[in-house]
Amino acid sequence: MNIDATAQSKTEWHNLPAQEVLRELNADHAGLTLDEASRRLQQHGPNRLPAAPRDSLAVRFARQFDNALIYVLLASAAITALLNHWVDCSVIVGVVLINAVIGVIQEGKAERAMDAIRNMLSPTATVLREGRRREIPAEQVVPGDVVLLASGDKVPADLRLIEARQLRVEEAALTGESEAVEKNIAAVNAKTVVADRRCMAYSGTLVVYGQARGVAVATGSATEIGHISSLISAVDRLETPLLRQMTRFGQQLTWAILLLAVLTFLFGVWVRSYGWSEMFFAAVGLAVAAIPEGLPAIMTIVLAFGVQRMARRNAIIRRLPAVEALGSVTVICSDKTGTLTRNEMTVQRIITAGKTFEVSGSGYAPRGGFAIDGREVSVGTYPELLELGRAALLCNDATLHHDDGEWVVEGDPTEGALLTLAAKAGLDLTFEREALPRTDLIPFESQHRFMATLHHDMEGHGFIFLKGAPEQVMEVCVAERADGEDKPLHHAWWQQAMQDAARQGFRLLAVAMRPTADTQRNLDFTDMRGGFALLGVFAIADPPRDEAIRAVAHCKAAGIHVKMITGDHLDTARAIGARFGLSSERVLSGSDIEQMSPDELRRAVTEAEIFARASPEHKLALVQALQANGEVVAMTGDGVNDAPALKRADVGVAMGRKGTEAAKEAAEMVLADDNFASIAAAVEEGRTVYDNLKKSIVFVLPTNGGEAAVIIAAILLGLTLPITPVQILWVNMVTAITLSLALAFEPPESGVMRRPPRSTSEPLLNGFLLWRILFVSLLMVAGSLGFFLWEQARGASIEAARTMAVNALVMGEIFYLFNCRFLLAPSWNWRGFTQSRPVLVSILCVVSLQALFTYAPLFQKMFGTVALDGAAWWRILLFGALLFVIVETEKLLFRRRQRR
Ligand code: ATP
Repeated sequence: MNIDATAQSKTEWHNLPAQEVLRELNADHAGLTLDEASRRLQQHGPNRLPAAPRDSLAVRFARQFDNALIYVLLASAAITALLNHWVDCSVIVGVVLINAVIGVIQEGKAERAMDAIRNMLSPTATVLREGRRREIPAEQVVPGDVVLLASGDKVPADLRLIEARQLRVEEAALTGESEAVEKNIAAVNAKTVVADRRCMAYSGTLVVYGQARGVAVATGSATEIGHISSLISAVDRLETPLLRQMTRFGQQLTWAILLLAVLTFLFGVWVRSYGWSEMFFAAVGLAVAAIPEGLPAIMTIVLAFGVQRMARRNAIIRRLPAVEALGSVTVICSDKTGTLTRNEMTVQRIITAGKTFEVSGSGYAPRGGFAIDGREVSVGTYPELLELGRAALLCNDATLHHDDGEWVVEGDPTEGALLTLAAKAGLDLTFEREALPRTDLIPFESQHRFMATLHHDMEGHGFIFLKGAPEQVMEVCVAERADGEDKPLHHAWWQQAMQDAARQGFRLLAVAMRPTADTQRNLDFTDMRGGFALLGVFAIADPPRDEAIRAVAHCKAAGIHVKMITGDHLDTARAIGARFGLSSERVLSGSDIEQMSPDELRRAVTEAEIFARASPEHKLALVQALQANGEVVAMTGDGVNDAPALKRADVGVAMGRKGTEAAKEAAEMVLADDNFASIAAAVEEGRTVYDNLKKSIVFVLPTNGGEAAVIIAAILLGLTLPITPVQILWVNMVTAITLSLALAFEPPESGVMRRPPRSTSEPLLNGFLLWRILFVSLLMVAGSLGFFLWEQARGASIEAARTMAVNALVMGEIFYLFNCRFLLAPSWNWRGFTQSRPVLVSILCVVSLQALFTYAPLFQKMFGTVALDGAAWWRILLFGALLFVIVETEKLLFRRRQRR
């Protein structure tokens, strides 16, 4: 059957019974076949909304002219034309046009960098295809697909629900209503409005609780959200608080400079008796020289490249301000499972009534055996193992596959480990699931830390299986299962055996069961009040990630505190925490946190580094307490309930693999590999971005300062202009496309993770940077004005003196670029000169352009330059080298002062 886009949306799916919807869509409970799915994908196209069109090239080009400096330049071009200075006029217009082209190219580069990253975050969906659950890109969902939903998922398409267990969906994206709506599968009246169609889950809404299955009835722009906003919202602007602050600073500076230019003009005309037209050019030259027009673009590029480098190290930035915040993070609160540990679970020990079994084998491969006290035993002799294995297998939503020679788990790794264990015990997964089919379940949620399922055997007898954290399970157990019989619980034995395991870092999971009425068809929390028999406890190993151990040490060296937050038992947490060098002197549990007053908690969070049996709401309390202490907090999370803590944290970090869409949307950063080491890498890159911003500013501003000061000095002293306005335009343009960009590529400095975090109140332009800008500006003036005067004194023509002055300025910048590669660390070593290819390439470009400027006849005519001889170049080179040495000496003195 063909369902085209219009038909998809016209059918009133909410009005049809689930079975009929499946029939209409030629689908069934086992999902589509792979062939059929790809045929439908061809037919309906990808499940995405069309992207909003970007601004056209012409608009982008035109946007480049919206800038105070450009207004000044265009006005000057008009005036030069009126004065018949056609060469100057065409140079100014040419420079303005070239600047706009460069602006468009740079903007495009930065946006492409961001786009590449956005594509890394495309959402996934879990569907059934050929009866097997598969995780696929949400774009590939087609009408007729059976989609599985769990808490935290973003609904990938419009679904008619065919199964729902306590499903609650937050539909704010569609209806604006932020209160979650309870869903079920009963058809509703055809006229029911979207907000009340309880049997539908709509694309773009968020599952906040429960589980469900639904068949996709509309995808892409045929969905309800597609009707409302048929376009994906336009891309965010590349903006951060710091960039905004700098843009504002730049604007204020521009107006101040324009005022200064006007005053200089008046001073020149009235006090120094320059001619009107000469002074006009001088004032324009001053404005052009002093305004750092290229700086915002350079800062954007630094940021965009920083974000790209983070992505290469598996940290994907969703919101740009996080890049800045990362540089000043003082505390990282990390989940344990999967972030610090590998999330590769293996059951290594089983505790049953009076016995402890060791389990051999590694990974998810169902190969291995059982031993007691080092002696191998056969499963047949211990029926309790079979009973426990069966319960673990039935109260389980994961599946285990053998793909490309490797055993892989689809679903929760903890549950995957139980499937492997059941297979090791010789249980056949399919057979057991058919023999005792599931009638209902209470899904696992980290708030209640258990999962329960209701089953009926072939004779119709009902059973409830329960698995979860031992505290939760033992609370409802009245007996323990031993030799097929229910006996009184030996609390002391269980506690001791569990404590031993937890202290070795094992994660514990208890399993219990009880019979129930044959007629019971639904399971709810009232069934969890008691009457269970404890079958056993699994001790599951989840080894720490080696790279995470190293990363925690790096963070500590960088003055960043690491706190581990886990839902696991206190003893497990303590043992694992110790492997990471975290202090286990004071371990706080979720209930400790609840009992503390805000003040007590504020004090406790500074000491404690391990938090156990903690739920998402405790994470929020921790972030608040840490922030109240003035800390800048990065917090990891994966579940839907982690969203408030992630939003509250300065940098919310979601897991890319095991994280839910809800967590990803709340986070500023997503880890592609779920690995703590990537957070540390992102912090390092965040600090580097900040350094590179500083380096770019400290490089660019002295050029402007130097040029402006040369002109002001000349006017104050009543001299001819040592550099003409068009020459200044040339220098600014040439350095903007070459030298100034080179610092965006600077790799992290070696000591970047050995210094304390930057204080958030520290201004970008701190005292040191202001000093450096002033100091180097003066050196530049000394060089270029000095050469100009010296050449004139030696009888050179004014053109030759100006050519020297300009080349001296550029040479000064070339050498100063090497200084700027390291803010305080020395640059006079082999690494400082050769390590950065962008620096070398940009210098090569600038040298070639200066050769053109000095020797090409056309350029000589346009810019009023003349050829220089070899001796002149040696003098210029010497000046550059001298400037380099002076700045390096200044760095040395600062380093000495810092050490004192
Ligand atoms: P993190 O460290 O990332 O916060 P966690 O794995 O430590 O996560 P939870 O996943 O909330 O925390 O698990 C807490 C406890 O709940 C575990 O120690 C275990 O006893 C129990 N548990 C975990 N997964 C399941 C599951 N699928 N079914 C039943 N109980 C589970």
